[in-house]
Amino acid sequence: MDRDLDPDIITLKAGYVIPSPGEVIEGGRVVVRGTRIIDVGPSKTDSDGGVEIDLGKTAIIPGLVNAHTHLELTDLEGKIPPPKSFTSWLRQMVVFRMEDRNRDLSHAVERGVQMSLEAGTTTVADISNTADSFRVLPGLPIRKRVFKEVMSLDPKAVASMLEEAIRLLSGFPRDGLGCVGLSPHAPYTACEKLYRGSALFSQGQDMLLTTHVSESEEELEFLSKGTGELATALKAYGLLGDWKPPGLSPLAFMKNIGVMASPWLLAHCNYASDEDVHIIKESGSSVVYCPGSHHYFGRKAHPFPRLLREGINVALGTDSLASNRSLSILDEMRFVVANYKEVSPQDVLAMATVRGAKAVGMGDRVGRLSPGLEADLAAIELPGDGGGSVLDRLFQPEAQNVFTMVAGRPCYDKHGLFVQKE
Ligand SMILES: [Zn+2]
Repeated sequence: MDRDLDPDIITLKAGYVIPSPGEVIEGGRVVVRGTRIIDVGPSKTDSDGGVEIDLGKTAIIPGLVNAHTHLELTDLEGKIPPPKSFTSWLRQMVVFRMEDRNRDLSHAVERGVQMSLEAGTTTVADISNTADSFRVLPGLPIRKRVFKEVMSLDPKAVASMLEEAIRLLSGFPRDGLGCVGLSPHAPYTACEKLYRGSALFSQGQDMLLTTHVSESEEELEFLSKGTGELATALKAYGLLGDWKPPGLSPLAFMKNIGVMASPWLLAHCNYASDEDVHIIKESGSSVVYCPGSHHYFGRKAHPFPRLLREGINVALGTDSLASNRSLSILDEMRFVVANYKEVSPQDVLAMATVRGAKAVGMGDRVGRLSPGLEADLAAIELPGDGGGSVLDRLFQPEAQNVFTMVAGRPCYDKHGLFVQKE
């Protein structure tokens, strides 16, 4: 390395730089110092004072945000074929959970992170059931918000469950890359007291709440009438106890018990009535649409185009490999672009970047390429110039991520460009 160069400065040059969904710089550069971006603009002949890396025919984009995943389940890849119903999938999940209950799932989390970084994902909102994610993720070079999942329909179990969760959250290192949250699993597995206790604890803390909500028609039936496949399964597992149906939609139930006074990260919202849409909007919550998982369950079109028109923040998630074939947000974007022609490619990229960052409570730090923000980015190698816009090429199946940087640190470098320079 040249002695006159500042080792803290890295200039990344590429065929295109897309600082935010509506902006494209042809022949651009991103300058990074330490963990942050200090400049973004067209390439220039004079040096920025540090190392220069030419990423060639790529588009540098903001690092992708996976706003809903369960990395502890990465080993369930391909294990559960598309089921005939959501409850039948849940029953198979229970079997795997029982088999895994004494297993250390660290390797699954590590593998999930590796797959994410290789796919250009720089931030994950990860839901931890076993707490293995809480142990492993602090040491891994990806930005994360880790949620402790809690579930019980029995109000008597809530106090000790929340105490244990809070202990876990308090011990998580909130360094530059990590922060936490709490996740009452879903309205069919978490009672009113658990939702309220979680919301109460989160108040005034640097935390976020997330939940699976309005995911299946079975959930809607269970909440409104207490009947159906979910009721049968929960009863068989001895989990139903004295629980009574609120007679409302899942979102109306959450509003009714007073927990929608602050914004949530709402996973799925696959079924949303006019009243539900109003509840989401009024609470300022974000919705995570998980295209691969939605497709796996054979569901009808997701209502996210309407949610976007209503001004609701919508992000993208992969969910876990127990209900999806990929942990790649780039794959999820491709699916959305191919199947929802009424949504612009810019909107789709926004859902995976700036909107995702906002959804996980990091909108002021990542999600765009702008001076002062954290240097989280990906470089996508574009297929040959067969016409079409840069975004059209970005979403073609041949486009692939070749370089990922998190907080100024290269975390995936397919062509070994950094090694060659050092
Ligand atoms: Zn999930």
